[in-house]
Amino acid sequence: MDNFRKLRDQISNQVLKEGGFVEDLQQKELLISAMQIAEERMATLTAIVESSDDAIVSKNLSGIVTSWNKSAQRIFGFTAEEMIGEPILKLIPEDRLDEEPRILARISAGERVDHFETKRVTKYGTLIDVSLTISPVRSPSGEIIGVSKIARDITDKKLEEQRKNDFIAIVSHELKTPLTSVKSYVQFALSKVKKSGDTFTEGLLIRAEAQTQKMAILINDFLNLSRLEEGKMSINCSRFSLHELMTEIIAEGRMLAPDHQIEYESCQDGTINADRDKIGQVLNNLLNNAVKYSIAGSRIHVSCSLATPEMVLISVADQGMGISDEDQKRLFERFYRVADDKMKNISGFGIGLYLISEILKLHGSKIKVESQLGKGSVFSFALPIEA
Ligand code: ADP
Repeated sequence: MDNFRKLRDQISNQVLKEGGFVEDLQQKELLISAMQIAEERMATLTAIVESSDDAIVSKNLSGIVTSWNKSAQRIFGFTAEEMIGEPILKLIPEDRLDEEPRILARISAGERVDHFETKRVTKYGTLIDVSLTISPVRSPSGEIIGVSKIARDITDKKLEEQRKNDFIAIVSHELKTPLTSVKSYVQFALSKVKKSGDTFTEGLLIRAEAQTQKMAILINDFLNLSRLEEGKMSINCSRFSLHELMTEIIAEGRMLAPDHQIEYESCQDGTINADRDKIGQVLNNLLNNAVKYSIAGSRIHVSCSLATPEMVLISVADQGMGISDEDQKRLFERFYRVADDKMKNISGFGIGLYLISEILKLHGSKIKVESQLGKGSVFSFALPIEA
């Protein structure tokens, strides 16, 4: 800023002097007013940058800091004098040093990095959680000459998430044990009542069993969500028959949703090597969603077919409300639910599809969706088949 002012004063002095470098008086006045406008804009920009709650930092393509605002000092502890001219690596914890070259490569390719959540280290050695938005800085000719970085301190938000996570994990765990007991009492009573011929009580117990099953699925989702957040979700692979698992899931699905027509096209003798419980959870969630987002009486088609001699393709198709192209892009984000009036009466937390996509990622697979609003949706994924 000071350099800028000096330059303007220099030009004005030269211009005012007889024989200055700009000859035409009108041109001289234009130049001075252009410089004044530029100076005002620069002052506004500086005020915005300085008053921001976020750290705003710029660096060159070699990672050397070229500007450092007040919030950068507040968040990281280093003053502008301590940081300008220094490598940005000073702020990066040792186990994350590989992030910098990856970020620089993306920026050099003209990309922007939005809301990248990571950790940085302060002057006092404390680790803090930050969300970074990084963009290229271009010269007037469009060449990338540096990088601007906005860092938001999200340590409190992360702590809050952690507390929420712990709470969910504890509550889910505490609910799981009594629910398992309730379920087995209901199943025991059901087997007795079936023999007695009391169809009314049998009907009630079947409904009670279906409700406990729904609660068990929900609790499992929550437990898996907190494991995932803690980075503790792992898979225990074993070889099992996909057909057998799918038959179980379909039987459960038919019990939970007797008013839907659930069809099953089997792949008979496919053996896969995967986490049986988690793949079961993926199928359960997809089937539950197909039921939840389509009307009673409509058809749900679950199929399993050989996509190639090595891969089996599993899909769940419904004739429900469908999902717009816009929503399809965000469907697998944590807590994402479609904002639609029709959704108000359908309960949910927006974690099922997020968990599905994470579980499949751990298996080296990916969930896909094809859908048309008002027509229905098909969710599918592929898994390698064992010889
Ligand atoms: P939840 O169903 O608990 O809201 P999910 O993560 O399972 O959470 O699904 C996220 C959102 O995706 C749902 O809220 C819904 O809007 C949409 N969705 C999921 N499955 C379907 C489907 N089969 N048909 C229409 N919309 C669906």
